Amino acid sequence: MIDENRVEAGALSATGVPAERVLEEVRKLRASDAPTHGGRLFAYVYDPAVPGLDELAAAAHRESAHVNGLDPTAFPSLLAMENALVGAAGRVLGAGPGTTAPDVVGSVTSGGTESLILAVKTARDAHPEITAPRIVVPSSAHAAFAKAAHYLRVALDVVPVSPETLRPDPAAMAAAIRPETVLVACSAPSYAHGVVDPVTQIAAAAAEAGVRCHVDACFGGWTLPYLRRLGEPVPPFDFAVPGVTSISVDLHKYAYAPKGVSVLLHRDATLRAPQYFAYADWPGYTMINPVIASTRSGGPIAAAYATVRHLGDEGYLRLAAITRDAVTGLADAVRAVDGLRLMAEPESTVVCFTATEGGPDLFVLVDELTARGWHTQPQLSYAGLPASVHLTVTAAVAPRVAEFGPDLTDAVAAARAAGPVRLPAELAALVGALTPEALTPDLIVGLAAGLGLGGEVGSDAGPLPERMALVNTLLDAAPSALRERLLVEFVSLLQRPSWAPS
Ligand SMILES: *Cc1c(COP(=O)(O)O)cnc(C)c1O
Repeated sequence: MIDENRVEAGALSATGVPAERVLEEVRKLRASDAPTHGGRLFAYVYDPAVPGLDELAAAAHRESAHVNGLDPTAFPSLLAMENALVGAAGRVLGAGPGTTAPDVVGSVTSGGTESLILAVKTARDAHPEITAPRIVVPSSAHAAFAKAAHYLRVALDVVPVSPETLRPDPAAMAAAIRPETVLVACSAPSYAHGVVDPVTQIAAAAAEAGVRCHVDACFGGWTLPYLRRLGEPVPPFDFAVPGVTSISVDLHKYAYAPKGVSVLLHRDATLRAPQYFAYADWPGYTMINPVIASTRSGGPIAAAYATVRHLGDEGYLRLAAITRDAVTGLADAVRAVDGLRLMAEPESTVVCFTATEGGPDLFVLVDELTARGWHTQPQLSYAGLPASVHLTVTAAVAPRVAEFGPDLTDAVAAARAAGPVRLPAELAALVGALTPEALTPDLIVGLAAGLGLGGEVGSDAGPLPERMALVNTLLDAAPSALRERLLVEFVSLLQRPSWAPS
């Protein structure tokens, strides 16, 4: 018999669970999540802390949740809202009537990754004669480019960033362009460190070679223009830059829309044309898709539309000012602590810091911050760049900034007192010797248990240990191919169905 009281027993109840109780279950499950509101979460969630905005977005989502973006002729409301969002994104990014990019067109996608996959696909498919296409990206480019390259069988040419500026040398980007190159990409700003790449020079080099140039403004596309209007020295990065052929901007980041909405813009419709997939060679409806998904919920689109309409240009300007002040305050707090240094002077809405020689163990520090209610994002060391701590700053953080400094000082002292994580000798030896190919299922299960991973969801142990420093230290010690494999295996262990008892 199906046990109605057990959430873990599979979602399908025998007779149906009353609405109130189902909602209680959801709330109970949500209780172990990181806090999405309150200004103490520095990744994953973008919170403007505007009263009533959540309710408005949820109401708009509800209005359109069952509407299907598959066919804009059946649901013109979605076509209208998408066109309005693309127009807004274009305006923010230097396009539209009266600009140097009057012919910009775009699409609403489900997120930054989809936007980037489509930017790569469009560039690839514009050149069917190139049988082994390649793209050039800086090493700081978002991992989604690697995913796009992997999905689309496009080779990835990675140009290292300078350890000092965290930016690629435009000459090195230009030199990496080959006859098979279909796209050159750069970031405004990079997610990891929040620095803006030299877009003008990179786009010029791409244009000279006759290659498309994509600016990944998924993170900063909705803040950099406002920061510029506030007087910050934001370098050119948008459609005002000659040679930029496409730009992505995630509305579910700094446009503060609920998850599931990004915009991919192309300088003109010819550039966008290869993005479409149409199919009439089957007995069903003729399929014509501008994006990867076919059936698409109208919910996220309506929620984004409501959010952008409600906040408006002045709202975003105000939120950018609040966020900029929070960034300044957080960066000051980092500077004031002995043993830490900023990876870069903040030029967008990221604060990223690392430890100085003799400073605290950063992974222990991240756990100490978590214990004090601050959820930061550890970044592993990579190609000559040290491990670091990433803070995505949103407007909701502003009222908390004054509390951060003392807690950071405290957490650093605690991390110093605890000392660095030492991998148990057998783990260290294992990671030193292991190759991804040598990982067996038994070894994975043993490793996961040794690290405290994979307990039952909802049990005392939980799926993740309270302190992640050991896991992070192990991953940090591993080469990236082993990191990838270990993470895949660990996550795969977590992702197992909960069965109803038969
Ligand atoms: C977040 C982000 C992405 C990926 O976006 P998703 O919405 O997570 O798929 C790509 N590029 C940059 C710069 C980002 O910040």
